[in-house]
Amino acid sequence: MITTAPTLLPLLKKYFGYDSFKPNQLAIIEDALAKKDVLAIMPTGGGKSLCYQLTALALEGTAIVISPLIALMKDQVDVLQANGIAAAYYNSSQSQETQQQILRQLEDGDLKLFYVAPESLGFFTGMLEKLNISLFAVDEAHCISSWGHDFRPAYTQLGNLKNRFPTIPVMALTATADKTTQDDIVHQLRIPDAERHLASFNRPNLFLDVKPAQDRIKHILEFLDERPFESGIIYCLSRKSTESISEKLQKAGFKAKAYHAGMSPDERSFVQEEFITDKVPIIVATIAFGMGIDKSNVRWVIHYNLPKNIEGYYQEIGRGGRDGLPAHALLFYSFADVAQLRRFISQSENADVEYAKLERMQQFAEALSCRRIALLNYFGEHVTQGCGNCDICTSPPAYFDATVLAQKVCSAVARLGEREPMGMVIDVLRGAQNAQVLEKSYQNVKTYGAVKDVSWLDLQQYVIQLLNQGVLEINFREGARLGLTPLAKEVLFSNKSIQLAVLQKGKEKKTVVKSKTQQTGLFEKLRLLRQEIATEQGVPAYVVFGDASLKDMEAKLPTTETEFMEVSGVGQAKLDKYAEIFLKEIAKHLASKPVKKSKRKTHDQTFDLFSDGLTVAEIAETRGLSENTIYGHLMKKHAEGEELDLNQFVSAPEIAKIEEAKSSLTEAQGLKDFFEYFEAQVPYWKIKLGLYLLEA
Ligand code: ADP
Ligand code: ZN
Repeated sequence: MITTAPTLLPLLKKYFGYDSFKPNQLAIIEDALAKKDVLAIMPTGGGKSLCYQLTALALEGTAIVISPLIALMKDQVDVLQANGIAAAYYNSSQSQETQQQILRQLEDGDLKLFYVAPESLGFFTGMLEKLNISLFAVDEAHCISSWGHDFRPAYTQLGNLKNRFPTIPVMALTATADKTTQDDIVHQLRIPDAERHLASFNRPNLFLDVKPAQDRIKHILEFLDERPFESGIIYCLSRKSTESISEKLQKAGFKAKAYHAGMSPDERSFVQEEFITDKVPIIVATIAFGMGIDKSNVRWVIHYNLPKNIEGYYQEIGRGGRDGLPAHALLFYSFADVAQLRRFISQSENADVEYAKLERMQQFAEALSCRRIALLNYFGEHVTQGCGNCDICTSPPAYFDATVLAQKVCSAVARLGEREPMGMVIDVLRGAQNAQVLEKSYQNVKTYGAVKDVSWLDLQQYVIQLLNQGVLEINFREGARLGLTPLAKEVLFSNKSIQLAVLQKGKEKKTVVKSKTQQTGLFEKLRLLRQEIATEQGVPAYVVFGDASLKDMEAKLPTTETEFMEVSGVGQAKLDKYAEIFLKEIAKHLASKPVKKSKRKTHDQTFDLFSDGLTVAEIAETRGLSENTIYGHLMKKHAEGEELDLNQFVSAPEIAKIEEAKSSLTEAQGLKDFFEYFEAQVPYWKIKLGLYLLEA
């Protein structure tokens, strides 16, 4: 029998404090409960762990979780235990005594989840048959594949599990989207018939932002000034720059530390620990940092240097906003980085592919249309609609007719014999009088000084746009000299018209300021309280509560235990442990506020915004809630007698379809049956709204 939502939802609330599933979670869990093998592919932050954790809770026996990273295991077990779930991990760093104790628990069947590294699994070989195993979960399953990027030899023995336990379902989980790796995972684990669940790679809460690399440090300091308490990661290319940047930030008064492979393992784990526990909110790191860090409240990720491909970029920005709250991904784009990366690549065996990937990375950075579209298309998800949450969508560039400018640039390149790099071409166009120019007598070239009126940096930006549009090209293997493409010949000789984007002059974008204005002070108080509790218990702050829960407390302002239970992330165990102390803090906060700030119910707050003319999507973003929830609020207002036209959200034909479904689904248990009836083409909220209107 398949256990479906009605029984899983209470478990989800009781143990994790959530009211609904994230995309694909339910389907994955249902398959595992039906004893099917599953391959779950979800982006970082998609909620993979919950898939096997909830399956384990719904089944008899113990789930064996194979996980590659000791630090991660410990974090997960801490979180599970804080939620009142019997879980333990086993690894070589534990004392013999602890190991013995855990093995006893395992043998006695006292554990719902047992975490073990693949290297330690051999140790249990004789024992597994004696246990009542509910599920094998293979986390970071791409480690089994030598195609993947983190191959771990010990993973290869996991294929035996299916041979030995053919009836126990295997759930493999990974964030690697690449098809070859997926096939290899299924093959190596010997689960050829695994149901594959491929979640969308979209992370709508990440704001995608790209800026030119001039004055990076100044930009970063301004950026951080606007986010005083937020945690984030700055990625850069070299060890040296991690150190120099973190020093600059420290001098400016920020708590920042460097992290790179040249540090001793002890130093590194110390820094990592300080980051996880929020003692040091800012890490400046080389790419080695982040793998296996399960910190949910990283609010921003900055790329000081251009990543060498989109996979890496996406994985790194994916460390932001895992709690689903807004997070900012800022990439600095510089041509010097491209040149340096190309030099690295030229020494690699696989250079052709890597050049091509770098080029796509560049195209992304230079995009003049929605960045999310570019990103998702790269991962094979074909979208055409602008996302509204990237720098381009929020302030689309204006274009101007740059035909004459383009002609001047192309002409200079031609007159310099296509021999000079970008810097020299710009110098000549601007009529520079430096030694290099004069040495080569370039002051006699016909286009010398032809673009005097444009600043050096602006002109550089225009030349990059011309590169991006395929008018010019760079010959990287020959001193990065600029050359003309066939398109340039059309510009020069056929008067081909060229449009370039108008450059934005230090105009700050509206979106950047938003997070600050939303702080009412309570969040900060709750954060400090959380920190105190976490320090006392010696656990990372998010084991107590994630940022999403604190935000929800700030929005809902609970005053009773029942109201506290409604906060996202509050399950039974957290209610028992923390309701009192957090309610006290909230009450104190409310008492300190003037009476006029009387507490508005959450659906009233939504309605206020709705009356102000905000759309449902805007309200959801402003309040950090899902659109589902917002529609729920509006329905509630309607049910309370508010005059509110709900028919604007669901059309008459749609209502008719829902009515039809209702009459054919006589045994419908819940919304899910309708959802499936419509083959997932009608969103939950619409079904709910339709049914509500039919009843009303
Ligand atoms: P992944 O392993 O896929 O990167 P995690 O399992 O760490 O993602 O989950 C990311 C975050 O989402 C965690 O903070 C987790 O508690 C939260 N989460 C998981 N499932 C849900 C859900 N159904 N509703 C709300 N939050 C969830
Ligand atoms: Zn966009």
